[in-house]
Amino acid sequence: MAKTEPTLMDKVANLAKRRGFLFPSAEIYGGYGGFWDWGPLGLKLKNNIKNMWWRDFVLTWQDVVGMDGSIITNPKVWEASGHVSNFVDRLVECTKCHHRFKADDVSGSCPDCGGSLTEPRTFNTMFTTNVGPVLETANQAYLRPETAQSIFVNYENIRTTQRLKLPFGIAQIGKAFRNEITPGNFIFRSREFEQMELEYFCLPETSDEYFDELVETCFEWFLKLGIKPEHIRKHAYPTGELAHYARATTDIEFAFPIEKGWAELMGIANRTDYDLKQHGKFAKGDESAFATPVDDTGSKKVVPYVIEPSMGVDRAALAFLLDAYEEIEGGRSTTTDSVKEVETVLRIHKNLAPYQVAVLPLSKKSELTNIAEDITKTLRLHWSTDYDETSSIGKRYRRQDEIGTPYCLTVDFDTVEGVKRPKGTVTVRHRDTMAQENIAIPEIVDFFRAKLA
Ligand code: ATP
Repeated sequence: MAKTEPTLMDKVANLAKRRGFLFPSAEIYGGYGGFWDWGPLGLKLKNNIKNMWWRDFVLTWQDVVGMDGSIITNPKVWEASGHVSNFVDRLVECTKCHHRFKADDVSGSCPDCGGSLTEPRTFNTMFTTNVGPVLETANQAYLRPETAQSIFVNYENIRTTQRLKLPFGIAQIGKAFRNEITPGNFIFRSREFEQMELEYFCLPETSDEYFDELVETCFEWFLKLGIKPEHIRKHAYPTGELAHYARATTDIEFAFPIEKGWAELMGIANRTDYDLKQHGKFAKGDESAFATPVDDTGSKKVVPYVIEPSMGVDRAALAFLLDAYEEIEGGRSTTTDSVKEVETVLRIHKNLAPYQVAVLPLSKKSELTNIAEDITKTLRLHWSTDYDETSSIGKRYRRQDEIGTPYCLTVDFDTVEGVKRPKGTVTVRHRDTMAQENIAIPEIVDFFRAKLA
């Protein structure tokens, strides 16, 4: 059989596994479809994405606060939100090979064996569980399929305790679960994933303006974090295709190397006053229960509109990895190695890279490693820092290039002897250009502070 070339997705998945970004969940038992276990490097990458988002959408905004809701909550929440009746997929099954597909993804016959397909049947994609020791429908609950609803149900608690006035936002990062029929394309579609959501509440008449502003801010955020402009675009939904509660929706799409090509990386929606009114109706019997004062006297009240930017952390991590992955045929010449093979460089943004710096003593001799270890200790107080004294320096550079470390700091014999360079200096190599600079040891922290700000 002809050997097929690995796709970009295969290459990134392979790198992710080989270097410890993530693994199929419980791989020793054969994995579990749609679930993943994140390893040390992937955890760092995800934490960096979350920290950058929290910094850029919560901490630096005067009027946005955070929260952390429970994953399992009162099932009435999901009745009010519409998830119990509407969060459904249509499923068809092949009568021959029994593979299952989303009805929207196939037409006519089974894409795997050509067999005939059953009529579509709907099934709810929320995972169910039972709360308490007895398995009965009376205590059935759900794993949340999105983080947004815990923000809506806490709207009044947060507004009043934090003394917030419109407009203001509430943000949350947390796990979400969906019993997807066809998880796949690596981590593009999983059954357990993380979301970062912001609900920005505002007066109805200002909602179009805030919607436009948030679409731009989110789009710029990806560009600022290094996503190539040719890999992302905005897709505004025409009115006829909007969800019934939405006044406007724009997806930010990424050119994922999957069958469908451009696909949703995140969505920004003007959800109007739908959610707060639904919870008002279901929880208090009054759809205006969460009407909010809009003047100082408190006599005029309105149920605010909400703008929701919603993004999957895992899907964003995938986009950042795909966008940054580059192979260089024949390698880049390094000073000490003449190996000519395909070299991989992950040109990921410096603040997202799992390690910002790697400290590499040229040899394992203690006169070098003692200095290198001291420098590592100091750097670790500020940045995620790797330390590696094994194998040739060329191999170590390549290892760091492959995981995206923007700076490698080398302690060599000149550091102690000062023959070709002043004594007490180290060299810093830049991942993207391979340029090297000499830095005096006492100036290392200031140097990286300027570079990694
Ligand atoms: P899709 O059309 O891809 O199923 P959706 O429209 O259902 O996505 P939303 O409900 O808008 O997605 O969720 C917001 C974000 O959460 C998405 O933009 C995506 O980044 C992420 N997301 C949604 N479903 C999944 C999933 N199964 N696996 C990973 N990320 C997901």
